[in-house]
Amino acid sequence: MTVTRSSETWAQTVERARAAFLGMAVGDALGATTEFMTPTEIRFKYGVHKKIIGGGWLYLKPGQVTDDTQMSLCIARAIRECGGWDLTAIAHHFVAWMKSRPVDIGATCARGIREFMHTGRLEMPPNAWDAGNGAVMRMVPVALATLGDEACLARWAAEQAHLTHNHPMSDAACVTVGRMVHQALCGGAVAALQTLAGELVRDYPEFRYRPYLGNSSAYVVDTLQTVFHHFFSTGTFADCLIGVVNQGGDADTTGAIAGMIAGAFYGIDGIPRRWLKRLDPKVRTEITELADYLVNAAPLVVQGRIRPAPAP
Ligand code: MN
Ligand code: MN
Repeated sequence: MTVTRSSETWAQTVERARAAFLGMAVGDALGATTEFMTPTEIRFKYGVHKKIIGGGWLYLKPGQVTDDTQMSLCIARAIRECGGWDLTAIAHHFVAWMKSRPVDIGATCARGIREFMHTGRLEMPPNAWDAGNGAVMRMVPVALATLGDEACLARWAAEQAHLTHNHPMSDAACVTVGRMVHQALCGGAVAALQTLAGELVRDYPEFRYRPYLGNSSAYVVDTLQTVFHHFFSTGTFADCLIGVVNQGGDADTTGAIAGMIAGAFYGIDGIPRRWLKRLDPKVRTEITELADYLVNAAPLVVQGRIRPAPAP
């Protein structure tokens, strides 16, 4: 499916790119509070959770982000440093991040990064247990940098995913989320995004999200069902994100993925100011710069004016 260009200007697309990346971080920071809680526990403790207050099982500061945002930043920084796609550079950024003793790191991600450290391997072997959401949560820089080139999106999505997760459903979810961000960046209508979600369900019926069963675990199927259900049943960024994070489970990651799609779709003015202001200012500044770089570099990459680095 090709990206439908509306009459949006490039400036609007750049603004949506910022909103996608910032929306992802906002979802991470908001959802981290309710990660691993049940909806009932959340209701009992917070009523409706809708403030970036930190805490949670990681005892975060308000506005602090977790691995979802940090791994996305690793990919974005590597693309900028290389002026293109260099999987080895991304892997080195993951290693440096893991050595920095991050507040949280998923078991599958840690295993993949260790594998690279010890063997230099850039691809984990296929594994039936790798259908977690850890590769999807870091898709926003890939989507921004490949805007306008669906084939490139599919290739880079799978390559970055396989550093840690190698499973066809994780791959399919990465590509679908990337395509949805592409559509939204170009001002695509909700129907276009629904079509993309529908294509994923057609290929992998497990992802069917109607009726929504309420599972929001780190299993990529549960994760995307949660994101799709709340994105398609709400009309604002805030309602979508509040719905997602009050579902609990892997709430920071469902929040991050919903935030990248809803951010691109509703734009920067759609993200509540109070949430953007709460976000760790260093993260907010770096994300804004990187989002601008990535989306502006994208057409150059596509035109071959910036060539992806040669394979190692
Ligand atoms: Mn996280
Ligand atoms: Mn998580």
